[in-house]
Amino acid sequence: MDGQGRAMWKCGICAQEHDGLATVFGAEAPDPWLQAPPAAREGGELNADMCVLNIEGEWHYFLRGHIEIPVTDAPGDVFAWSAWVSLSEDNMQQIAHHWENPARAFLAPMFGWLCNELPYETSTMSIPALVHNREPGLVPAIQLDPSVDHPLVKEQRTGIALHRLAEINQVVLG
Ligand SMILES: [Zn+2]
Repeated sequence: MDGQGRAMWKCGICAQEHDGLATVFGAEAPDPWLQAPPAAREGGELNADMCVLNIEGEWHYFLRGHIEIPVTDAPGDVFAWSAWVSLSEDNMQQIAHHWENPARAFLAPMFGWLCNELPYETSTMSIPALVHNREPGLVPAIQLDPSVDHPLVKEQRTGIALHRLAEINQVVLG
């Protein structure tokens, strides 16, 4: 017994312990990339952080970030959806130009649209957001527009319980 008490923690909703939960899930690419024909992908580019894709003659720019959601009954713990947002060409160039530069953390927040369908009852595509760049090595933070009426936006605003995190684990991992 170490007196920390964590092992004795029981969920107030279902009385289970919810140990060993994954705290990051997400999409490897923006949905438009996943839906694009092979020829479009060949002319575009996808890496772990950025994506460029030509859709019907127009270039689109996507950045991967984290939608961070505090876990309310595990203080300090944060769940994150790793997801992609579309940005303007200017903003994407600015980010790419500063990618290895610590000053990237001081770039002004940038507007973007969420470009992944996450497992929620209502579509998460095109939720407006601000992207906050951070120091190199840290994934940019996606702040969903708090005025949007959507369960995911509400979760980011108010946090989730470990019970909900367990639910998300189950939905994603099956
Ligand atoms: Zn529970």
